[in-house]
Amino acid sequence: MTNLTEAKLFINGELRAAASGKTFDVISPWTDAPVNKAADAGPEDVEAAIVAARNAFDNTDWSHDSNRQRRFEIVAKYLELFKANFDRLADFAVHEGGCARGSVHREQVAMALAGWQDYLDVFPRVEWVKDYGDKVMWGMNNTRKAYHEPLGVIGAITPWNAPLYVNVGKVVAALLAGCAVILKPAPDTPSLGAIFGELANEAGIPAGVLNVVFGSDPALAGEMLVKDPRVDLISFTGSTAVGKRIMEQGAPTLKRVFLELGGKSARIVLEDDPNFERNVAMGMLVNHAGQGCAVQSRLLVQRSRYEEAKAILKATYANFEGNWGDIENPAHTMGPVVNRKQYDRVLGLIEVGKQEATLLAGGNARPDKGPGYLIEPTCFVDVTTDMRIAQEEIFGPVVVVIPFDDDADAIRIANDSAYGLSGGVCTGDIERGLAIGRRIHTGTFSVNNGMCIAGDLPFGGCKASGVGREWGVEGIEEFLETKLIAVGSVAG
Ligand code: NAD
Repeated sequence: MTNLTEAKLFINGELRAAASGKTFDVISPWTDAPVNKAADAGPEDVEAAIVAARNAFDNTDWSHDSNRQRRFEIVAKYLELFKANFDRLADFAVHEGGCARGSVHREQVAMALAGWQDYLDVFPRVEWVKDYGDKVMWGMNNTRKAYHEPLGVIGAITPWNAPLYVNVGKVVAALLAGCAVILKPAPDTPSLGAIFGELANEAGIPAGVLNVVFGSDPALAGEMLVKDPRVDLISFTGSTAVGKRIMEQGAPTLKRVFLELGGKSARIVLEDDPNFERNVAMGMLVNHAGQGCAVQSRLLVQRSRYEEAKAILKATYANFEGNWGDIENPAHTMGPVVNRKQYDRVLGLIEVGKQEATLLAGGNARPDKGPGYLIEPTCFVDVTTDMRIAQEEIFGPVVVVIPFDDDADAIRIANDSAYGLSGGVCTGDIERGLAIGRRIHTGTFSVNNGMCIAGDLPFGGCKASGVGREWGVEGIEEFLETKLIAVGSVAG
């Protein structure tokens, strides 16, 4: 039994079907069968959402300075409504997103709501006005201030892998900033977007300030938002390929973009690590079947202890066999991958890995665990950086283990990637770990498993991992524009 109800669009304060009346089936990753229906937005629905958002931003007082406290209170009430719907959020994440029950209490629901609270907590630190002081120029005194103003209409395009977390990351920050938003969730996980519409009126969000559109075509609504001059900024999380397309298609309207794209982050375990066994074992990539942009999908182990690490991993994978893939088990944190396309893609890359490297564990689809898209936790060893499995983001439960000689070699290998999102080092010497971290080109980094991702911290990447930062004060300020005003007076 599921708790799911048809996912509806939300446009100009109204929860509604698509104008065409069309719906599409949402497929459960656990069963490969329909689990819900969702409204199938067409161009007329997206157009209506853009008109509504533009009107709310331009012709209402939502974005005004005087409304900051009101916005804060609305967004705080909105959070309480989401908290009261925790069980439904969990069901959406499990049945549409394919998350295992144990992940509900991690990034899939609990961490998203905690991050929302973090946004409320950092809100008082947003710098709305910056005083540049007085300066005499050409015989005149100038009093200069920068006003940080809501940027406008935001197109928020989000993925299926941590849908609630990413939706919160964009929608909550944009609302607090005073923007109007059009949320466009992935077709796989419409309900975790639709619920923003469902609860918006009760929270007191004025009509048009928030709109939610989705459809069976993954590109239609997003491309309309990207190309439309009435949309001021696109905040996107997803694949690097689509991120590049957004930059291209947004260029004619000089669209501002925030892009959070893929990753191939390195976890480095040094030979001096006093918790070597635990930290190698933690390199096993299983949570949410490895479908996370910031997961550490390359495990770098110092060559002097590489064979030892292989033995640790072999045992760890064997012990995990009974601990994943059961939708009913509240302790499981790994279920299927999200859809047929990803299933085929991940299995295809596993086949590439079998040609390139040595398979230590896993390597197969597991229909015995259920009719959905279940792939067993997989580990390749004797991997070198030139291999496809060392370079491509697999976005599945697959880790590649690469040996290194010394710190410089570890840094070289970690940086030998198109991506630069996250990473980490485990060591007995924190200064050594920090020195390594400072030389790796990523947006976040952890020493000895430090949590570098939280709602009050800026998150984002460099290189092919993206542009800009979300979450934290920086995440709210991403949705503000700087206007500098100088007031002239006679120099005294
Ligand atoms: P995707 O980039 O195609 O989709 C992400 C979002 O963009 C979805 O809402 C989708 O509907 C929308 N979209 C698709 N095409 C668009 C276009 N032309 N213009 C505007 N919006 C568009 O990601 P995917 O196909 O769902 O997954 C493919 C790969 O992307 C994965 O294997 C993984 O490598 C990567 N990925 C990364 C993240 C991340 O968090 N960085 C999340 C999901 C997927």
